[in-house]
Amino acid sequence: MVISGDTLPCEAIAVAAAGADVLVHEATFTEEEADRARQTGHSTARGAAQLALDAEVALLALTHVSTRYAGRELRDEAREVFARACVPRDFDSIEIPFPERGRPRAGALVLGAAVEPERALANSGGLTASGRAYPDRGRGPSRGADTFPWLL
Ligand SMILES: [Zn+2]
Repeated sequence: MVISGDTLPCEAIAVAAAGADVLVHEATFTEEEADRARQTGHSTARGAAQLALDAEVALLALTHVSTRYAGRELRDEAREVFARACVPRDFDSIEIPFPERGRPRAGALVLGAAVEPERALANSGGLTASGRAYPDRGRGPSRGADTFPWLL
């Protein structure tokens, strides 16, 4: 697992993240604010996703999101470049199994135990551990085992 810290996409992170199971990378802005991202030493979701693609990581988790965004915009922008991107909320979890047991999985933390996202959703009555509603609740079941629509 590689954690970028607060940075523009850079070569050092790309080298460190090569083949990583999980890259936790900041994405403060969308491309609409690319100039501001550069001026302030931050990344856009697209920039972080491009780095994740180039580094061939298994999962990209975007963090350090500007409060101007709900998170979904950043997730969608990242997924245009790198499909396995998510924007976890506080207390969400990412399971990193041994390689023979599959790829990293993003889920939700409920009652102190990491559980599969669908079970977490059922157990929580549609609320995250922090009490906020899952954004896609009511839209039906998962759209596939490799997507996590309830994770921004
Ligand atoms: Zn910052």
